[in-house]
Amino acid sequence: MPFLYRTAVTITRKQPYIDWANSFDDGGPELTRELADDRRTIYLVAESDDRANLRTLLDEYWEEIFEEELAMWMEEEDDWPAARTREMFDAWFGAEITDTVIDLVPEQPLTETDAELADLNEALHFCAWCELEIEAGPGRFVGFKLEDRDRFADRAGLTLSLRINPERSVMGIVTPDDSEEAANGDDLVFRACSSRCEKAIRSLVATWMQATAGGDLARVLELMAADVVFLGPGRPPMRGKDAFAAATRAMEGKNRIEGTAETKEVRVFGDWAYCWNHLTVTMHPAGGAAPSRLTGPALSVLSKTADGRWVIFRDANMIAPDRSPE
Ligand SMILES: [Zn+2]
Repeated sequence: MPFLYRTAVTITRKQPYIDWANSFDDGGPELTRELADDRRTIYLVAESDDRANLRTLLDEYWEEIFEEELAMWMEEEDDWPAARTREMFDAWFGAEITDTVIDLVPEQPLTETDAELADLNEALHFCAWCELEIEAGPGRFVGFKLEDRDRFADRAGLTLSLRINPERSVMGIVTPDDSEEAANGDDLVFRACSSRCEKAIRSLVATWMQATAGGDLARVLELMAADVVFLGPGRPPMRGKDAFAAATRAMEGKNRIEGTAETKEVRVFGDWAYCWNHLTVTMHPAGGAAPSRLTGPALSVLSKTADGRWVIFRDANMIAPDRSPE
């Protein structure tokens, strides 16, 4: 039986927490009683020999749990109640204990580290192109030099996925900084089963490098006015093409993004137009963590250039985490 050596503490946010969460006049979402009951957090602690006692456990962990629960609503610590006591914890939170925790999918990665290791194992033992399993001996590694190794510093020793098309990506490994491969100029390596697959990987990576070197981005930038302004909730206006390009480059390799736009309305007034789109965006983190979905409207003002092309002049994007029922 895939039994986990953990005791679980389930935390429910009570009325004082809800009142605190709703005390901010920042246009954020409201925390309702239903939402608080629906989105409870489970904390796992070490299993004890005798039947775990809730009071003892909370005596040990209440401060950590308190901080975690506050951070879930407000990242800024200045907005947290400063004087937190054990009595306050009991008033703000309900707690239940479960000392039998059973994992029904033991073959699936349990933690982020497990998921990273599973990806790494796959990248080491399967052809990146045709996904054929490769024995330890045969097969080959196809290595590439990255223009800007520093940009992938946080992936060193871990996998990096390159998107081929919305349905498929290939996974390579960013070599550790102190490895022999990195010293030989191979910053990114892929496992290949045959020369045919090696060739396919080489051509794909060449295309990807061209695109990240500015190919695709350049095309996107052509669609914008030089003094374009992007507006979005919770961040200052992003002014100009250069700011957009810098923000895009900073995101590369971190997420794989898929999106669709449904046009609701377009009106043209001479050399000006506005366009209302409904956007749905899915972000797949490179590490293989769960994807997140954002959805919402965007309103763009377009202007016509001297050579007759339409470009984005202003863009207000109101996408937010998708809270609609699944
Ligand atoms: Zn292959």
